[in-house]
Amino acid sequence: MAMLSLRQSVLPASSSDDGLVLAQRQRQAQALCGLSWGSGKCTSVLGAASRSGTPSSLSSRPTIAVHDKLQGLPGLVQQLSVVAQLGWWNVEADCLGDTQHIVFRDGSHGDESSQYSWRWDGRTNTSCTMVHVEESLQFPRDFEGFGEEGFDPQWPNGARIAVSFVLNYEEGGERSVLDGDPFSEPYLWEKGASGGYKEGRYVNAEQDFEYGSRAASWRILRLFAEFGWSFTTYAVAYALQRNPTFAKALVRDGHEIACHGVRWLDIWDLSLEEDVAYIEKNVRMLHEITGEMPVGAYFGRGTPNTRALFPEGWRRAGGELLWSSECYNDDVPYWLDLPWEASLPAEQRKGMLMIPYNYDCNDGKFHMSPGFGSSVAETYEQYLKNTFDCLYREGGKMMNIPLHTRIIGKPGRSEALRKFMRYIADKPGVWVTTRRDIAKHMRAKFPYKPDGAWRQGSSS
Ligand SMILES: [Zn+2]
Repeated sequence: MAMLSLRQSVLPASSSDDGLVLAQRQRQAQALCGLSWGSGKCTSVLGAASRSGTPSSLSSRPTIAVHDKLQGLPGLVQQLSVVAQLGWWNVEADCLGDTQHIVFRDGSHGDESSQYSWRWDGRTNTSCTMVHVEESLQFPRDFEGFGEEGFDPQWPNGARIAVSFVLNYEEGGERSVLDGDPFSEPYLWEKGASGGYKEGRYVNAEQDFEYGSRAASWRILRLFAEFGWSFTTYAVAYALQRNPTFAKALVRDGHEIACHGVRWLDIWDLSLEEDVAYIEKNVRMLHEITGEMPVGAYFGRGTPNTRALFPEGWRRAGGELLWSSECYNDDVPYWLDLPWEASLPAEQRKGMLMIPYNYDCNDGKFHMSPGFGSSVAETYEQYLKNTFDCLYREGGKMMNIPLHTRIIGKPGRSEALRKFMRYIADKPGVWVTTRRDIAKHMRAKFPYKPDGAWRQGSSS
């Protein structure tokens, strides 16, 4: 333990460390474990520590301590050595008699204002993910939303529905041994769960991603040119950088460039300051690569703080965030009040415009279980048609169609998408648009006002 410079004292249990809280933490730790793919040994540690972080004190660090009876437990030593490498921690913890779980206690304050989770992938012995939840950046959950009454965004020209196609462009940003990762990307490619992972370099996986950037990308551009429609690109910065002619063609054809991460990786272990810097870098890189300043984001792989940090990341990059799609909980856009703006005068508050995304219409489900089935594109086509029919009949809704170059751009699947596009192209009152234009519409028609007052619209 000396090599880890750990304090070897046992802290008194704080009031929040009763059995129920402990059990909740263990479950949360197990849930985090479940998110790590594969079947390797996975050790989780979930802890609580006190800090008073705000966007203005992003680099503050808590003190955490580890109890010395952890010595000699294989796995935990591995874990703690990772902890020690982070340098800024004083670590103290209480072993629960179960090598799979430890609860960290705050070493300095005793109360609980934020939580730290550790996930260890015992297969690689190197990946340890810390999830930091910054209380001041958390939004409350909302189970009522617009209720029975609903909300009508009043789409332009009396359209019944807004349809947003989204192209996730990730090829070249995925895990790759040549980029310093320990293995090739196992996630979301043709072999998927049935042998999608190999230790080290796996050329087959690399090649499927390259199909996406080399061949499928242009097929998708041709498809949208045929209909004269624009989509939003969720662009991974390193991916677009590796296909500059395609990046330029996206802008040339009027498609939106939005942020989808610097690389196509989980960033759960970023500190607050790293989180903001990552967002800023994403904005700056895409601006440089495409000449277009992104105005929206969907990471989908961020920390619990990332979505709240978007506006600050944009500000540092010299831009302005117009929309975020870091939500899945409605069929219509809506405004969120920002917790740290609560004390400002109403006219100084900006809020954050949310344009919900979805998983159910996502072509990624060709590679997920339960999904659309590996090759049955008609299932996907029919599901999209059913979704459209329902939303179109209801009226005043938006439909998301999340796509991935290497998935939907395979000939058999792109043909199913084309049939769906043909199906909706013939109907009146269909507004196929980008998320940028949905945001512009909302900002003009329903400019932000706090506490839900924005629903009254711009005329009031
Ligand atoms: Zn994606």
